[in-house]
Amino acid sequence: MADAEVGDDVWGDDPTVALLEETTARLLGKDAAMFVPSGTQSNLCALMAHCERGDEYIVGDNAHTYKYEAGGGAVLGSIQPQPVPIRADGGLDLDRASAAIKPHDHHFASSRLLCLENTHDGKVVPLSHHDEAAALAADRGLSLHLDGARLWNAAVALGEPPRAVAEPFDTVSVCLSKGLAAPVGSVLVGSEPLIDRARKWRKMLGGAMRQSGIVAAAGLYAIENNIDRLAVDHANATRLADGLAGLDGVTVEGNATNMVFVRLGDNPGAVVAAAADKGIVMPNSGPVTRLVTHIDVTAEDVETTIDVIANHLGRG
Ligand SMILES: *Cc1c(COP(=O)(O)O)cnc(C)c1O
Repeated sequence: MADAEVGDDVWGDDPTVALLEETTARLLGKDAAMFVPSGTQSNLCALMAHCERGDEYIVGDNAHTYKYEAGGGAVLGSIQPQPVPIRADGGLDLDRASAAIKPHDHHFASSRLLCLENTHDGKVVPLSHHDEAAALAADRGLSLHLDGARLWNAAVALGEPPRAVAEPFDTVSVCLSKGLAAPVGSVLVGSEPLIDRARKWRKMLGGAMRQSGIVAAAGLYAIENNIDRLAVDHANATRLADGLAGLDGVTVEGNATNMVFVRLGDNPGAVVAAAADKGIVMPNSGPVTRLVTHIDVTAEDVETTIDVIANHLGRG
């Protein structure tokens, strides 16, 4: 980052940002890419590039793009979200999505875009589901967006190149800052015209940055060095799930890629507090706790975590 060659990306002449964008577009099999500060802004730029005021996007009811982005599509894009249920495997209920597509009639918002997420809650959505969604979108005249904040985890878990996961989508948003461990940034990829439209929204949303090659350099490093090693995070999460499943009072509700969802006894808040005392950070967010492995969590840390939780529960 200190050595990054920089320019002014508001003028489009920061060479490190340009290289990050080209590299990411190529990796995901698309023509163009745009570097943005966050996944939330990337998804919002995509929604606004696809949809006009009064249009609608169809999205999972527990999807990040619907539930965890402060309603940006509705507030800033005047785009109506139409949530539909997410299946147990993380895919969308496509029958419900199909039924939710509005006829052309002035009573209705105009259905314009279908949004998927992969991975969802760490779950790898099968590529056959992408194809089914793409067929529905093509049949009904919708565009297709993937919130691929964690696409890299899906690609590694499937043993597929990233472009295979991105293949049927018009736009894909990927995070550099989650599993890939860069400090900041996401990239939106798609066709030249869509990315061109998205750039105008990025500007309006305040996301155009000047000497951003400094942070893009970290993103490039992440893409070049930190994708394959996600398999280590996945193995660590599996070991964590297996270790916790063996403890009295603990129920593992789910384990996929780098995530584990657990019920930590009758008083999860006390377990979270005991872990915090030992420097293990877990969210205290109700009966089911989400644990996520990443580049800074070693196999040894996983054993320590299992021991700390075991000791706490053993003491009652
Ligand atoms: C984290 C995340 C985002 C948003 O990324 P930010 O950089 O935190 O705004 C979007 N979608 C999914 C699935 C995510 O996990």
